[in-house]
Amino acid sequence: MAFIRPYRNHADRGTWFRDPAIYALIEQELSRDIDWRGIGEFHVFGAEDAGTPEVKRIVDLAVKRGLWLHAHCDEAALEALYRHDPRARIVWAHTGFGVPPERIAQWLDRHPTLVGELSYRYDVTSDGKLDPAWRALLTRYRDRFVLGSDTWINERWSRYGEIMALYRGWLAQLPSDVADDVAYRNGERLFAPGSDNRRNRLPQWLIWGSTPIASNACHADACTAEYTGLPRSRSRMSSTSSARSCVQATKTASVSAVVVSFTF
Ligand SMILES: [Zn+2]
Repeated sequence: MAFIRPYRNHADRGTWFRDPAIYALIEQELSRDIDWRGIGEFHVFGAEDAGTPEVKRIVDLAVKRGLWLHAHCDEAALEALYRHDPRARIVWAHTGFGVPPERIAQWLDRHPTLVGELSYRYDVTSDGKLDPAWRALLTRYRDRFVLGSDTWINERWSRYGEIMALYRGWLAQLPSDVADDVAYRNGERLFAPGSDNRRNRLPQWLIWGSTPIASNACHADACTAEYTGLPRSRSRMSSTSSARSCVQATKTASVSAVVVSFTF
């Protein structure tokens, strides 16, 4: 499942929402024969940054094309995204990180097109026990959450089994049909393949590796390499390697990250 990353390099993470070139980049990516499902994950914080005309253009494009927006954002930015168009379909990365369950419920009530993604939500449990407020939230809104691995740096890949075990630990404390919804059924339903099934006609490498634009731009704070997804200290990319070879090195991981995010 492919989303368009609206970054060309690490610096774009902090400026994409005011940069008209990003819209052109997204349009260029959309022109490729790929079954795109969304735009993101992108980062934006505060009403001002999320409220720019550049962001509105991207939201409008997403609505028009039926694309999801995968937003790593705070509540003010989320509000601003919906102000651009309340029909926007938004996957809220990390469900706002620290936003408490009762406020998440309010957001889900106000915006039926909002889906919460649960990576980094360590507050779902306390000492391994499912938090009662989260139990109530996940049960009541069982069709509104998905699980992500967020393997954005190697350290997350090395802990992949541990992260999934953590999810399985609290999923097992929910009624099994609710757990199934959150673990994979919502992902299957929300991100069902397009009817033309274009993706199946493409060789896998083409989807992530053909041009090093957007898809693999790294947003790791520790990373100064473009297009890699690998912290420089762990990257095998030499100074003479091209961005493409770096993408090639990470393409399998990237595809797995997205697929596994919603189907484990
Ligand atoms: Zn994130």
